[in-house]
Amino acid sequence: MEQSRKGAPLLAYNSFGIEAYAEDLMHIRQAEQLAAYHPGMPFRILGGGTNILIASNLQGAVLRMEIDGIEVLEDNAQGVWVRAGAGQVWHGLVEWALERDLGGIENLSLIPGTVGAAPVQNIGAYGVELSEVFAWAEVWDLEMRSIRKVKGEEAGFGYRDSHFKGAWKGRYIITHVVLHLRRNARPNTSYTVVREALEKKGIGDPSIRDVSEAIVEIRKTKLPDPSALGNAGSFFKNCSVDARRYSELKLRFPGMPAFQQPDGSFKIPSGWLIESCGWKGKQQGRVACYAKQALVLVNCGGATGLEILEFAGEVARTVEDTYGLLLEPEVNIWEDN
Ligand SMILES: Cc1cc2nc3c(=O)[nH]c(=O)nc-3n(C[C@H](O)[C@H](O)[C@H](O)COP(=O)(O)OP(=O)(O)OC[C@H]3O[C@@H](n4cnc5c(N)ncnc54)[C@H](O)[C@@H]3O)c2cc1C
Repeated sequence: MEQSRKGAPLLAYNSFGIEAYAEDLMHIRQAEQLAAYHPGMPFRILGGGTNILIASNLQGAVLRMEIDGIEVLEDNAQGVWVRAGAGQVWHGLVEWALERDLGGIENLSLIPGTVGAAPVQNIGAYGVELSEVFAWAEVWDLEMRSIRKVKGEEAGFGYRDSHFKGAWKGRYIITHVVLHLRRNARPNTSYTVVREALEKKGIGDPSIRDVSEAIVEIRKTKLPDPSALGNAGSFFKNCSVDARRYSELKLRFPGMPAFQQPDGSFKIPSGWLIESCGWKGKQQGRVACYAKQALVLVNCGGATGLEILEFAGEVARTVEDTYGLLLEPEVNIWEDN
């Protein structure tokens, strides 16, 4: 009785381990089911729930994308075009590609979540972003009430960003993603930690499988497993500043690390900013800043989404007071009044 009054429980569907309810939870296994939804209706799209923070009970339905399947669309000298359902587990697709010696996504090994959510924030890790292999997405267009293709060049991909999470939010639901993978791909070992891990194993000329395994091992030592400690990976994006701002900051804070971007801007690691403000490993109530990686906020057990949001707000305020830099959440905040 109690459960039906509250609605559908979402505890099992978000990696922060937040106990919250939606009015309804629908399992979307075929794109045709989406025809029942219209713009303006209260609903949200859910993949694996590994990049959301649910800060209240939710009005309307949560549509959990469970369209699966992986198929080869084309295989020729230019590469292999692979189509996967939005509900497919991302790392499952990486494994599928490794088994067939198809390169391009091995650096994105073990990123939690689904294939359908991968373009939303243009997932990236260890020097590779999804946009580099993204051919197109098939989306249900809620306004036109039909399926259309969105190609890579239209998607507005940027650092942890795309039109899917910006201008197109609420318009397109991704049903399938097509990736352009390659045989005999040269793995990207541009990240020092990856090269060092391979060297430690005595691997001089790594295969894509070697790179994937090295990255899986690195990730397991650095990031908390959500099934043991609720979290959504990096809570904040890294900070981006223009060259003038960076030189002002560098004068005031000589130890501040930064990475120049191809467009001349500088990326400042938010984890460093947070750590230098003394947050790393700090716990307040049921929320903490992860001891091994300050960018990750963790639910120490039973925290509400609001508690995590308040903790994040305090972290961001300290960074702003110290450096004048605004931390932008990478995690999607789901909150209704
Ligand atoms: C331990 C840990 C490590 C992580 N490491 C990384 C990392 O290295 N790099 C990285 O980029 N991310 C990382 N993340 C974040 C997360 O894994 C990715 O953002 C992932 O793509 C989220 O997938 P999901 O299916 O769980 O999405 P969800 O959390 O379910 O949804 C995320 C957003 O996408 C929207 N969405 C989901 N599916 C669809 C769809 N089919 N159509 C339209 N919109 C949709 C949702 O509405 C929501 O706004 C990490 C998370 C954790 C917990």
